[in-house]
Amino acid sequence: MSDTSTSLIHHPYTPPAGFESIPPGVYKASTIVFPSVAALRSRDWKHKTGYTYGLHGTPTTFTLEERIATLEGGRFCTLVPSGLAAVVLVGMALLKAGDEVLIPDNAYGPNKSFAQGELAGWGITHQFYNPMDPADLAAKLTSRTRLVWLEAPGSITLEFPDLPALVSVVKAHADAHPLGIVTALDHTWGAGIAFKAFDLGVDISAHALTKYPSGGADVLMGSVVTRDEALHQLLHFCHMRIGFGVAGNDVELVLRGLNTIALRYAAQDAATRALARWMQTQPQVAAVLHPALEGTPGHATWKRDCTAAACLFSVVFKAGHDQAQIDGFCDRLQLFKLGYSWAGPMSLCAPYDIPAIRTTPWPHAGGLVRFSVGLEAVDDLKEDLARSLAAMQR
Ligand SMILES: *Cc1c(COP(=O)(O)O)cnc(C)c1O
Repeated sequence: MSDTSTSLIHHPYTPPAGFESIPPGVYKASTIVFPSVAALRSRDWKHKTGYTYGLHGTPTTFTLEERIATLEGGRFCTLVPSGLAAVVLVGMALLKAGDEVLIPDNAYGPNKSFAQGELAGWGITHQFYNPMDPADLAAKLTSRTRLVWLEAPGSITLEFPDLPALVSVVKAHADAHPLGIVTALDHTWGAGIAFKAFDLGVDISAHALTKYPSGGADVLMGSVVTRDEALHQLLHFCHMRIGFGVAGNDVELVLRGLNTIALRYAAQDAATRALARWMQTQPQVAAVLHPALEGTPGHATWKRDCTAAACLFSVVFKAGHDQAQIDGFCDRLQLFKLGYSWAGPMSLCAPYDIPAIRTTPWPHAGGLVRFSVGLEAVDDLKEDLARSLAAMQR
């Protein structure tokens, strides 16, 4: 090898022996090199017993998959490029033309949009059900239902559903169903910490690792976890066919974030409850929605099934405040930035028009703002809210 460029690429690199550090190594690959043609021909990309191509896993992605499965009490995990991609993978793997998917009316918005857009285009129908009424779910199950989404609590309105009751409604119906019906939970809020989804009976947990596992507001990633191997294989084979890869550097960020997830979850939980309770006492406020607050629908269920709560609460203003006043309140906040996503270091808020995004009844007349509490000092956040509330016309 006389040419420098060739010898740089074919450098006799040997991985370090006897080197052990706290973080796992970060491996990056598109190509994975086989030792022989025979090894290349006999590659097994269907089971995670070896390495075949960057899309199908590296030691780094396998490490994160194992840790997410452990966190959630599942057995098998597949990583995808975003939380939304986790929702999409479940739909693509399980549904075919003629099938129907049921989605809670208060679900993460893009889950509903995917059903209304791509799934509808592929001949897959959907219905939205009221997750606070298991009888409504029971009435909507048909012989075409193949997948039922669950989400706890509702994405913006934070009602906490009775997951075991919803799962048992589905299982009772699925017994008479030739293909069975799969339940999939959007587990982003619980994050494997507030409750154990598989112990409550769900088949699949989809998780936006973008939120708590990352914790840094710097990476997009998702995961799909199961306890059942056959179900995992369905998801895993679909994943391989559609090319949903994740990058080693992004996986590294999530692995780093996981070290502190329990501490951050607890700290943000405490700060969120303190701010939510304080907001309840403010004269401009009609209702504060947070599963740990009495008066939030499903509070008793949350208390029964959960040991913690995430960093979200929503405020419904008294009906006398018009949208311009509520927008002004949000605009005046200095520590709470305007933005989507949550569970990062910085507090966020965003106004929502709830009647425009749901079909089930909504009891409130006033406008709603959802808050995500970050890692700032609670007193500073309270002061920020107080200053902006004070400038709001009563
Ligand atoms: C953010 C979020 C998602 C999607 O995650 P992305 O990584 O932003 O695509 C899905 N479900 C819930 C409940 C979320 O909050």
